[in-house]
Amino acid sequence: MSAAESHILPVYSPPEQVFVRGEGCWIWDDKGDKYLDCIAGIAVNAFGHAPPFLVKALTEQAGKLWHTSNMFKVKGQEELADKYTRDSFADVVFFTNSGTEAIEGALKTARKYHSANGHPERIDIIGFQGSFHGRSYGAINASGNSSYLDGFGPRLPGFIQAPYGDLEEVKKLIGPTTAAIIIEPVQGEGGVRAVPDEFLRGLRKLADDNGFLLIFDEVQSGAGRTGKMWAHQWSGVTPDIMAVAKGVGGGFPMGAFMATKEAAKGMVRGVHGTTFGGNPLAMAVGNAAYDELSKPEFLEHVNTVANHLGQALESLKDRHPDLVVAVTGKGLLRGLKLKIDPKQIQAKLRDRKVLVGVAGDNVLRLAPPLVISEAEARQAVDAIDAALAAHMAEAGA
Ligand SMILES: *Cc1c(COP(=O)(O)O)cnc(C)c1O
Repeated sequence: MSAAESHILPVYSPPEQVFVRGEGCWIWDDKGDKYLDCIAGIAVNAFGHAPPFLVKALTEQAGKLWHTSNMFKVKGQEELADKYTRDSFADVVFFTNSGTEAIEGALKTARKYHSANGHPERIDIIGFQGSFHGRSYGAINASGNSSYLDGFGPRLPGFIQAPYGDLEEVKKLIGPTTAAIIIEPVQGEGGVRAVPDEFLRGLRKLADDNGFLLIFDEVQSGAGRTGKMWAHQWSGVTPDIMAVAKGVGGGFPMGAFMATKEAAKGMVRGVHGTTFGGNPLAMAVGNAAYDELSKPEFLEHVNTVANHLGQALESLKDRHPDLVVAVTGKGLLRGLKLKIDPKQIQAKLRDRKVLVGVAGDNVLRLAPPLVISEAEARQAVDAIDAALAAHMAEAGA
């Protein structure tokens, strides 16, 4: 590998494996070695790798029509928007190619709402410490974390960062120029932290009392990941605007933002658009993916496996009190907060042919395909157990 210099912009630091094929929760590298995939492209491959029903949807569409742009109606968009709105708080949907574009649209929708109401001064978006909303300028400013912002020029006006989980502090930041609060119901990159229902309820009340909007970023927590279609559905609290992506395409790049009719009132003809978003290929896959996700037995499976996984991870905490601080997250988006750099355990797991992720706050992150079986989840936990034990043995030696 070191022979030739790579021409890829060096913003990533991948390990040496090159993956060439996948099936279900398993993925093979170019040497023929087989790995159990417990990160799924970071909560993207909800149905595992190359699920036959999505391969069929994609290839059938590929033989018919790829792209027309949004200057013409895309039938698959109409169908998928009907489904998303039928089952959620939302009335209208805009399709994007990625999570950060969905966030960008959500932020624009919130500001435009106030402008349409005669309050163009209401521009402030309040985000939270440890949040991640993507890499566009709007998204990095909404998260407010310096690791994403440093060196990219002055921070945009109209973005405020609040401490995580403190409603009283949020109250202090609210004023006549507040446009919206944006929050992930389960923080992904920030450490796989599930926001308490009580906090979401508090934010909803603040928004209602003060006439601003509530935006949920469900790019990572949505699409069945926590055992409900959208994570916020556990809390009973609904947002005015929501951004989704990652799992909704089951591996095909697509996302969306959706809103109530009221919140979207400023988004009229010509004020927003995209060339590729919602193209026929994405919509063929997105519709098939959503039909599968919305089968009651599918989410039942997620909840059953998630319960087992949660208990098994708790037992790891009991077995390794010197390394494991807490089990975090929800459903099949779980974290193991460690006392050491989780990358050390991640590497050990790769040696054991199990792929996991990491997140902020020293968290080892699990986001397996939602179709993972109990036996496969058990296999992953056994491998983590062995990796933690190996670390202890080395540290003690
Ligand atoms: C991944 C992610 C994004 C950004 O999505 P991209 O498709 O990478 O642009 C935004 N918000 C959350 C919560 C995410 O996890």
